[in-house]
Amino acid sequence: MGLAATSSLLLFPWHGNQRRRQALEHPAQERLRILASAETSLDAFLLLDAQRDESGAITDLRVSFSNRHAAGLLDGFDGELTGHTLLDVGPQILASGFFDQLCRVVNTGEPLLGEAEVRDPRVQATWLRYQVVRLGDGLAMTLGNISEMKASEQRYKELGEFTESIFESAPFSIFATDPDGMITAMNRAAEELCGYNRTDLVGKAPLTLLHDRKELAVRAREQKLRTDPSLEGFDVLTAKAMQGGLDEQEWTLLRAGGMRVPIHLAVRALKRESGDVTGFVGIAFDVTEHRAMMEYVTHLATHDQLTGLVGRAVLQDRIRQAVERARRYGTKVALFVLDLDHFKRINDSLGHWAGDQVLLETAARLRLAVRSSDTVARMGGDEFVLMLEDLTNLHDVEHCAHNVMKRLAPEMSIDQHQMHVTASIGVCVYPDIGSDVQHLLKWADAAMYSAKENGRNQFQMFRSEMLKNSEDRLALERGLRHAIDNDELVLHYQPHVSLSTGAVIGMEALVRWMHPELGLLMPVHFIALAEETGLILPLGEWAVQRACREGKQLCDELGLDLTLSVNLSPQQFQQKDLTETIERAIRESGLPPQRLEVEITENTLMVNSAATLEKLQRLRELGVRIAIDDFGTGFCNFKYLLDYQVDRLKIDQQFVRQAAIDPNAAAVVRSIIAMSHGLNIRVVAEGVETEEQFRFLVRKRCDEAQGYFISRPIPAGDFAAAVRACGAVAALRSA
Ligand code: C2E
Ligand code: MG
Ligand code: MG
Repeated sequence: MGLAATSSLLLFPWHGNQRRRQALEHPAQERLRILASAETSLDAFLLLDAQRDESGAITDLRVSFSNRHAAGLLDGFDGELTGHTLLDVGPQILASGFFDQLCRVVNTGEPLLGEAEVRDPRVQATWLRYQVVRLGDGLAMTLGNISEMKASEQRYKELGEFTESIFESAPFSIFATDPDGMITAMNRAAEELCGYNRTDLVGKAPLTLLHDRKELAVRAREQKLRTDPSLEGFDVLTAKAMQGGLDEQEWTLLRAGGMRVPIHLAVRALKRESGDVTGFVGIAFDVTEHRAMMEYVTHLATHDQLTGLVGRAVLQDRIRQAVERARRYGTKVALFVLDLDHFKRINDSLGHWAGDQVLLETAARLRLAVRSSDTVARMGGDEFVLMLEDLTNLHDVEHCAHNVMKRLAPEMSIDQHQMHVTASIGVCVYPDIGSDVQHLLKWADAAMYSAKENGRNQFQMFRSEMLKNSEDRLALERGLRHAIDNDELVLHYQPHVSLSTGAVIGMEALVRWMHPELGLLMPVHFIALAEETGLILPLGEWAVQRACREGKQLCDELGLDLTLSVNLSPQQFQQKDLTETIERAIRESGLPPQRLEVEITENTLMVNSAATLEKLQRLRELGVRIAIDDFGTGFCNFKYLLDYQVDRLKIDQQFVRQAAIDPNAAAVVRSIIAMSHGLNIRVVAEGVETEEQFRFLVRKRCDEAQGYFISRPIPAGDFAAAVRACGAVAALRSA
C-alpha cells in the first residue's frame, strides 16, 4: 500500500490502557476474541508478522489476518490479503519511509498513529487514518477511511478562502460588529473608505465612531425610536435590521481626519437559529459620485438644454414656494409670461441656428433684467417665464415689466444680421390676481395673448375679461354665483385719516372672495366679471347690507363716529330699487345715514345721468354722503360735481404716487385740492404708501388720506386693533 506517512500523532485511544496492551502483546487467549471483534469493525484491521533475515533485521511484514474491510479497501487481491507481505502489496511503502516507521513499532513497542493521503489508484480511499501497535513479533494495524471527512474539510477550507477573498477584494466596504456595535471585522475597502487601519478599529472601536451623532439623533427622532444611551446611537443604525430583513439608508460617514462622506449603508443582523442576534454586517459604499451623477441627470431633466434655464417643473415648484413665502410676509409675486414677437419669421428666414442664437441672447438679457434671486424659465419654443419675488406693490411690477422690455430693446447682432427682437408679456400677480400656480400661469398666459392682440411689443396685466368665454371664466362665474349664496364673500375695511388731526375718521369696505380652491381673491379678479354677468347687483346689495351692519358694530366697539364708505358700481344705478336697498340696510343696521358714504366713479355720473341724478338726490335726502372714487382717471368735469353735490373726491392712487416725484402730477394734485376746496368738497388721497407722500399731502393741505402707509384693508375682527395702531400716524402728523 502506498501510504504517505504523516508526522502528526493524534492521541491513541489505547495508549495508557495497560490491560489491553498486555493482552495484545501476549495474544494467546486474547487472539480469538480480538479477531472476532475485528471482523465486525467498520475499519480495516490487519495483523502482520515480522519477517526477519539471519541478522534479525525485519525485511517485510506478512499479513496473518485481515478483516472484511481490509480486503475491500484494496483492489486486485480477490478479497484476500492473508499470506501476502506488505512489500508485495505496495512496494512503494519502502520509499515513503512508512515501512521504517512500522519496523520501529515492532522493535520499540511505541504505538504509531497518524493520517496519510493515499495516491494509489488501487486503494478505495484517498485518506486513511492508521493506528499501529505491536503484537508479539508483529503488528496490529487499524485503517480508517477518512476520505469523506477530509474532502469536506477541504471543501470548508476552500469555501473559507473563497469567502475571505471576496471579503478582502470586494469593491464595497464591509464592516462586521458584535451585538453592541463593536467592530469585529472590516475589509480593505472599508479601510480605504474610513481612512483607518483595521488594527486601529477591530475590537477597539464602535461602528458609531464613524457616524455623525447629530444625524443619528435626528433619525431617531424622525423614526420615533426609543434609544439606549449606552449604545451611542448604534441602535438607530440597526433598528430596522433588528426587525429582520435588510435596512438600507444613506448616512454621513466621518473619515479619519473629519471629512464627511455620503454613504449608502445596508445592514443585516446575524442571528442564531434560536433568534439571538450574534452581530451585524454592514455593506457600505460612497455615494458622492452617484449623487453628483443624479444631480447632473436631474439638471438635464429639469433644465432647458439650449439656454440652461429651468424648465416647467422647477418653475412650478418655485412658484409654489414663492407664493408660500409671499403669503407669510405679505409681499407679492409677479409672473411674466413672455413670448417673442414674430420669432417664426427669424427661424424661417435665417434658419434654426440663428433662431437658437436669438433664444440664447434673449435668455441672457432676461437674466440680466431680474435679480439673481428671481427665476427665469424657458417653457419651450420662444416662450419664457419670469418669476419676480419680494415685490410690495403693483407699481413695482409695472416697473419691472418696463425694465424687461428695455433690456430686450437693443438690436441683436446674429450672424452679421442686425435685428430688433420684441416680446409680448402677460403679467399675473399673487395675491392681487391669482393665488395658485396653475391659475397664475394660465392667466399670465391669457394676458400675454391679449398683449399680442393689442399689437405686440408690450405688457398687459391680467384682467378677468381676458378670459373671454374660456372654461376658467365660466367656472369663475359659476363659483361667484355660488359664493354670494354661500357666504364666501367677506369685507375688509381700510381706515382713512384726517390729515389735520391724524385721527381715523372713516373706513372703506372692500369686498374679497374666499374662494374654496383659489384662496382669497381680490376684487380685480371678479368685479369686472360680476359687472359683465349682472352678478354685481346681488353682490352690491350684499356688500351694502353687510357693511352697514359690521360698520355700525365697529363704530360702537371703538366708540367713534366713523364714516363708512361703500363702493357702488355704475350698474347698480340702473337698478330701480337701489335706494330702497340702501334705506333698508341703514334701517336694519341702525347706522346713522350721515355716516354712510357711497363711492361712485366718474363714469357713473356720465352714464344714464338723469336716472342717476334722481337716485343720488334721493340718497342725499336720506342723509347719505357721496364720494367720487378714482378721481382724475375719467372724463368728469367740475360742473358734474356741482350738479350732484358731491361731498368728497378721492384722488386716484396714480397721481398720489407720482406727485411726490413728478412736478406735473404734483400740479394736478394741487389744483384738484384748490378747486375742491373752492367748491366745499373734501379731498381724500388714495394709495398713500410712503411717509414722503404723506408729508407732501399734508403740505398741500389735502384733507384726508387712505393707503398702506396708514393701514392695509383688514378683516372686521382685526379692525379695532389696527385703528389703535394708527395712533402712530397721528403722532407723525403732529410732529
Ligand atoms: P377702490 O375703491 O379705489 O379701492 C382702493 C383700492 O386700493 C383697494 O383695492 C385697496 O386695497 C387699494 N389700496 C389702498 N391703499 C393702497 C396703497 O397704499 N397702495 C396700493 N397699491 N393700493 C392700495 P382693492 O381692495 O383691491 O379694490 C379694488 C377695487 O375694487 C376698488 O377700488 C373698488 O373699485 C372695487 N371694489 C372693492 N369692493 C367693492 C364692492 O364692494 N363693490 C364694488 N362695486 N366695487 C368694489
Ligand atoms: Mg373705493
Ligand atoms: Mg379708488
